Order: sequence, then structure tokens, then C-alpha cells
Amino acid sequence: MDASLLVINCGSSSLKLAVFDDQHRKRASALAERLNSKNAFARIAGSEQAVPLPSGASHEIALGTLIKALKDRAIMANDPCAIGHRVVHGGETFREAALLNDETIAAIEDCASLAPLHNPVNLDGILATRSLFPSVPQVAVFDTAYHQTLPPRAFLYALPETYYRDWAVRRYGFHGTSHYFMAHEAARLLGRTPATTSIISAHLGNGCSITAIRDGISVDTSMGLTPLEGLVMGTRSGDVDPGLFDFLAGKGISAKDINEVLNKQSGLLGLSGQTNDMRSLCDLADHGHTPSALAIDIFCFRLAKYVGAMMASLTSLDALVFTGGIGENSARVRQQTLGHLSLMGFQIDNALNKSHGAHSQGRIESSDSRFPVLVIPTDEELVIAREASRLATGGSV
Ligand code: AMP
Repeated sequence: MDASLLVINCGSSSLKLAVFDDQHRKRASALAERLNSKNAFARIAGSEQAVPLPSGASHEIALGTLIKALKDRAIMANDPCAIGHRVVHGGETFREAALLNDETIAAIEDCASLAPLHNPVNLDGILATRSLFPSVPQVAVFDTAYHQTLPPRAFLYALPETYYRDWAVRRYGFHGTSHYFMAHEAARLLGRTPATTSIISAHLGNGCSITAIRDGISVDTSMGLTPLEGLVMGTRSGDVDPGLFDFLAGKGISAKDINEVLNKQSGLLGLSGQTNDMRSLCDLADHGHTPSALAIDIFCFRLAKYVGAMMASLTSLDALVFTGGIGENSARVRQQTLGHLSLMGFQIDNALNKSHGAHSQGRIESSDSRFPVLVIPTDEELVIAREASRLATGGSV
């Protein structure tokens, strides 16, 4: 059996796992959810049958159980030859992926104050995997790393400079793995090299961010110190007036509750009062639900404004790229967004827009558009697998 690469993405109560072969083709993916609760469950994609997990199963138990299930099904014959982990925050320490050892693990722990909801669970996954596979090399791939090329004018907030010096308060940006993939895939589709290609990359999923990429390098992005800033998202507000905090505090809402509302009860969910799911929102809007139609309208308008903002960092533009669950699948969102951008020269071809999606990447602009517009399915797991291979095996797998 060929050597395999394992990609692991740990959330607070979930674990996603993907297996790649030595040609970097995805062989399987699996998911465990509701970990550390009595309803913990797991399944391998494409299989109807759940993989039984004991009640209260931890990340480590879920991982061990899923690996055994993959081996029993002959999807993995041997232990993987390298493991790649998604890690949300690499602070200013990690400008690229890193081989995991005691030193790099301690550095990830140091970044935890910047991402208290994410880095500790990413570390749980790393430690669980280390104890299961003590001799397999492991690599961390950071959501923030690709944006470490942002210039100070793009990453500094207009705050007292001591906040940056003493507490590392700055804009970091996220979804870096996806934006990096867009830079490379867009260049490939356009018959160019990444180093000579400038794009605006819109990653629109449940979380949304947009990045200006100049000659292959991230030069501005919409997310900031945390993944809350910028675009309207599924349950996150994106940009609000910072004066809102004092106003809401005056209404008796605690800082913790304000944070909870902005992260979990706002965005498309808050605006529609119904759902954070774009597909359901489109159905509701089609059936006359005005708040859902307005939520989509606000989502697209904010996105269009940010496309304009990203232009300020570029001297040329080779393509605007849509990706993520919404970016890949919603012709409606793409059409509505581009409708605000005709003054900048963006024009859409409605037939092409409808024909491209998650399973067919391609160009959707009309012949009179000043810039190409692309739809490209993202593949963050593939980037992590490639990085694990590059760092852990010198690219031999
Ligand atoms: P992601 O976080 O990348 O998985 O994206 C999730 C978002 O993509 C959700 O809002 C989904 O409703 C949305 N999505 C997935 N498929 C479609 C579709 N066919 N049309 C519109 N939105 C979709």
C-alpha cells in the first residue's frame, strides 16, 4: 500500500480528518462531532454507517477510533508518513508552515491568547496525534501565515502604538490557506505564474474574508485581530462601529455577551432572524421573506465595497476570484455583488455565472468586462497535505 498523508482539523467539539495518497489525491475523509459529550459520533464520508464512539469520547479517542476504522476498511494500510494540522493563529512567529517539535508547540501555545477559542483545541489535536503516532513527523499550517506579508499600513490599527508593541494588537487575517490556494489556482487558470499574478480573492463560506494578492503575495485582507472583522458572515457581524460597545454596555450587556452576539447571533442569521445558511436564505427570499432578501442584499453590498477597498493595494488586477461554499455555489450572490461594481468595469455573463460552481471552475465575466472573474473551488486540505509532505518528507510523498 502506498504511503499516505493525514490532514487533521480540530474544532472545539469536532475533528475533521482527510487521507491523501503519495500523489496528493484525497483517498478518504472522516468527521467526528459532539466530542466530549454523551452524543459523540463519527463517520467516514461516503459510508452510511456511523463509526461507534464511546460516550464522552475525546479528540484522542475519536482520532484513534477513526484511524482504526480507516485501517479496517483498507483505506490506510500503515501509519501515515506525515501529518498536517490546521492551526488558526500563528501570530507574528509563524510566517509559514512549521515542523512540530517541543519548541514550535510552545510557540503555538504562546499564540493562544490571540485565539483562545481555536489554538488550544488545535493543540489538543496535535498532542493527541503525537501520542498516537509518536514517530510520525507532524506539521502545523497556520490560517494567519500567508498574511504575514501585509505591510504596516494594512496591518496596524490606528490605536496607541503601545498596544501593538506590548500586546501584539494588529490585523492578522485568516483563511490564509484558502487565499494562498486561490493565488496559485487563479494563476494556473490564467496561464500565468503566481509571482506575476495579482488577484482579489473572496472566500465566502460560513466565515468570509477577502484578500488583495499582489504578485502572489497577500497585501491586504478584511479579517483583523480576530476573524470577526470585515465582511458580513453566517453568524458574525463583520465591521461595526466600535462605539457600539459603549452603547451596548450602557444597555447592561456585558463584554462577554457583546462578543457572543457579534460572533454567534449576527451576520446573515441576525439580519434574517431565521438562518445563517445562504441556501436557505435564498429559498426564503424567493418565497417573499423580506428580511432574508435584505440579509443577502447587505451581504453582497458589503462584499462589493470591500472589493473596491482591496483595489487600493493593487497596481493591476488579473482576476476577481470567488470561492468557499457561497462563493462557489451561489450564482445569485456573485451576480448581486458584481451588480454594484459596474463602475469599476466588472461585467458578468449570466449564463457562464450559472454554469460554474463547486464542480466546475472557470471564468464568468462577459466579453466587455475590464477584469476576469473566476469561480474556483477551494481545497485547504490539499494545501495542508502538500505542506506536510514538503516539510516532513522533503516532498518525497
Ligand atoms: P462553507 O463554510 O465554505 O462550507 O460554506 C457554507 C455556506 O455555503 C453556507 O451558507 C451554505 O448555505 C452555502 N452554500 C452551500 N451550497 C450552496 C448553494 N448551492 N447555494 C447557495 N449557498 C450555498
